Amino acid sequence: MKWREWKVQLTWWHKVTLVFTVATPLVYLAMMYGIVIPMARRGAANPTNISFDALGRLVRITIGTEIAMLVMLFVWVSIVSAWLDAGNPRFSDLVSPVMRSRHLSFNAWIPFFLALFVGIVPLAESLGDWLLNKKWEPHFILSWWLAIPIVLLAAHGWWFGRLLQRRLRTTVSRARLCYQCGYRLAEIPNCTRCPECGTEVAA
Ligand SMILES: [Zn+2]
Repeated sequence: MKWREWKVQLTWWHKVTLVFTVATPLVYLAMMYGIVIPMARRGAANPTNISFDALGRLVRITIGTEIAMLVMLFVWVSIVSAWLDAGNPRFSDLVSPVMRSRHLSFNAWIPFFLALFVGIVPLAESLGDWLLNKKWEPHFILSWWLAIPIVLLAAHGWWFGRLLQRRLRTTVSRARLCYQCGYRLAEIPNCTRCPECGTEVAA
């Protein structure tokens, strides 16, 4: 796989994703090591000279910014970028319409899997603790309320996945491409079968 082939596939929204992914930890590190920790150090050296309220507020702002950026990145990748991908008529040997279709289905289910993960890890931890210590003390995250986001996100995965598939099919047929392999069918008159892979072409 050559870099040039990848570059053709790199759209502006993929570049935004890359910048966002790099910026998210960097912003946190810059705020933590650039502002919070030096301020705490100065405070430790000279306790009368620092407002601990201000320091606490600064820590909350830093963590809040990081959570907000993570949520934005997550929404960007699993919803905005996926939607734009489904409407992108650019395909290559690396990314055929069928491959993008699989990628989009996976994308739609990411929020569900993440929510499931949030439930499964503390469940495994609590079960392990119960097996080792014969004491059932479930993790505080584990409650029946957790079932609500999991069910809602499963519905989102199913519905949004279908929406993305429909959008991708429209994009591919508007561009007159073979859905299976991405071959250009526009110049072929009365084309019923893709000459490249033999897939039947829908009228
Ligand atoms: Zn084909």
